[in-house]
Amino acid sequence: MTDLPSRRAVAAGLFAAATPWPSLAAACPADRLGNARILHVGTKGGLQVGLKTYPAALPLGPKEVVLTFDDGPAPATTPRVLDALACEGAKATFFLIGRNAQAHPALVRRIRDEGHTLACHTWSHPWTMRDLSESAQVRQAEDGFKAIAAALGEPDAKAGQGAAAPFFRYPGFADTHAVNAWAAERDIGVFGCDLWASDWTKMTPEFQLARMLERLRHAGRGVILLHDIQPQTAAMLPAFLRALKGEGYGLVHLQPGPGRIETVAAPAGWTSETERIIAGVRRHRGA
Ligand SMILES: [Zn+2]
Repeated sequence: MTDLPSRRAVAAGLFAAATPWPSLAAACPADRLGNARILHVGTKGGLQVGLKTYPAALPLGPKEVVLTFDDGPAPATTPRVLDALACEGAKATFFLIGRNAQAHPALVRRIRDEGHTLACHTWSHPWTMRDLSESAQVRQAEDGFKAIAAALGEPDAKAGQGAAAPFFRYPGFADTHAVNAWAAERDIGVFGCDLWASDWTKMTPEFQLARMLERLRHAGRGVILLHDIQPQTAAMLPAFLRALKGEGYGLVHLQPGPGRIETVAAPAGWTSETERIIAGVRRHRGA
């Protein structure tokens, strides 16, 4: 951690550019980040991507990043995230928890209306799907999609066929055979991610920004996981988007596509980080 002061200094510089802190969304920049391109992600027959969990990644070029937000929508923070994205003309993918979508349908519609991609992150976010019965696992996925569809005024839409994209993400990336098979049958893709800021851990927005940028510089590209329910993430996002622009990253907007997308194989020596984390959490919980 000896490099901490310098990372903090970097973050402080970025935050100083946005005044007044902490209402960073006050003024939108003239040189917006925007979106470098749309990537159509075909999920026919199922798909599993994201290097934290799977030995396959989406075909992103150097310095191309995808923003994904999990666990919302939440009235205290999701609007701030949406404001920051709108300010930069940036599009993201939101993996919603079904019961949050049911509780805040107007926010679900706002996410759609502002051109972002909606996706499913189960009905109630059990800490791991692996402790549920197979039928309960599938119900979590089905009910999650159903809740998003209902919020969008499509109560009869089948999972993966409504306005929400056929994109699914497991809580804690802990996938199961039953839901993987269910998803494959319905042409629903399973999304892990390539990097994260560990924003489920409490830290200052400045520290989170520095950590996110450091990890991104190391990875060079990738699908980024953030949580729009985290105040620290909502607070750091404007400066993070500015930094993406300043450092020459291009934002890629995921949208559903035909067929099945060609993925990129993980580098030699790849291992799943997810299994190690799940085992650690299970030990911690005594589960
Ligand atoms: Zn989650």
